[in-house]
Amino acid sequence: MTDTLAGRPPIAQERRIVTAIPGPRSQELEARRRAVVPVGVSSALPVYIDRAHGAIVVDVDGNQFIDLGAGIGVTTIGHTDAAVVAAASSQLADFTHVMFTVTPYESYVRVAELLAEHTPGDFAKKTVLLNSGAEAVENAVKIARKHTGRPGVAVLEHSYHGRTNLTMAMTHKAMPYKLGFGPFAPDVHHAPGSYPFRDGLSGAEAAARTIAWLEKTVGAADLACLVVEPIQGEGGFVVPADGYLLALQEWCAATGVVFVADEIQSGMARTGRYFASEHSGLVPDLVLSAKGIAGGLPLAAVTGRAEIMDASHPGGLGGTFAGNPVAAAAAVAVFDSIRSRGLLAEGARIEGVLRPALLGLQRRFDRVGDVRGLGAMLAMELVTPGTFEPDPAAVTAVTAYAAQHGVLLLNAGTWGNVIRFLPSLAIGDELLIEAVGVIEEALAAL
Ligand code: PLP
Repeated sequence: MTDTLAGRPPIAQERRIVTAIPGPRSQELEARRRAVVPVGVSSALPVYIDRAHGAIVVDVDGNQFIDLGAGIGVTTIGHTDAAVVAAASSQLADFTHVMFTVTPYESYVRVAELLAEHTPGDFAKKTVLLNSGAEAVENAVKIARKHTGRPGVAVLEHSYHGRTNLTMAMTHKAMPYKLGFGPFAPDVHHAPGSYPFRDGLSGAEAAARTIAWLEKTVGAADLACLVVEPIQGEGGFVVPADGYLLALQEWCAATGVVFVADEIQSGMARTGRYFASEHSGLVPDLVLSAKGIAGGLPLAAVTGRAEIMDASHPGGLGGTFAGNPVAAAAAVAVFDSIRSRGLLAEGARIEGVLRPALLGLQRRFDRVGDVRGLGAMLAMELVTPGTFEPDPAAVTAVTAYAAQHGVLLLNAGTWGNVIRFLPSLAIGDELLIEAVGVIEEALAAL
């Protein structure tokens, strides 16, 4: 039996470490890389990947890792999902590029229809497709400025929106994302947000603080948009207090500020709904998707109210590769799979296994300050025991131990003291429990 086009044997969904980590072949590749890839492009773990399927990645030395990162929340329905492979392969054979803004094709339109159907809000919506999350953020700002005729952009502390010049300006953390790369795009304003573990504020109190800050230091009349992540990703999977985001949305509606939900990390079935906004009853004016939308192929989208999306003149939006047909075909397969295989339920299943296991770790280890998140987007924040003092060294030690023992873990957080869990929805309960067992050993070894 084979599970790949290349006819190689299927990848057993199991952890298996057969060499030192990194193994000899990875080390050879790493030496070649050092000569030709700049140090600015770093890798969390220098094991070179040969293949991947479901929730397992296999390196060039034959080691198999339980993947709790899914390429930072991208292969949400699993590595090399059969439906994605089939759709992309078939499109590859038909045509790979014509450029939608020269001669269009159906899959782009179909992705726009699916996003109109599955983003929150029962009104006419339109979508522009792009290549990357940062490009989606850039386009949302362009559209909001054109629609409102206002210049300002508001974001929240601990936000992450990308690495282009404007999105660096919109990102909170200096190191490694911004330091030395300025000057940045002007008129971007970082308001205090809601971080229940650290600020102890209710949603209403935190929203009042954010709104007062924006009104005092910028003024709504100068703001085109407020861009928020319903669950902050790189910022450490911060889930705002109840009612916080809804209050911001209401303020935006009352002041004509376009409310943009950056769902690039939290969207596409990751939290058990198509979009995390749904958990808090949000109906954003614009929703941004990328990462998990196309099963690993590069695709991003801005979807929103038709009257806002139509603000741009013809020719104002686009890009050579934007909405590439292979990526668009893969995205249609992802949407079809979520619906036909009932994958929205998988987020709740994963949370049902992982959250109690992480809470168990919190009971055993007092350096686990907080456990939070939704669905298959959960995190633990590590602190010096008995304090709120961030402990990034513990996160580094735990992720290094996990890697040596066949578990790929990602860090996050403004202080680098958060371990985030972004497994694919294809991961089985046993692999999750096994991975938490490794993390428990790592915490015990600290
Ligand atoms: N916005 C959020 C919330 C993200 O998590 C990311 C990437 O991590 C981005 C924007 C930028 O996306 P990309 O890396 O595809 O440009």
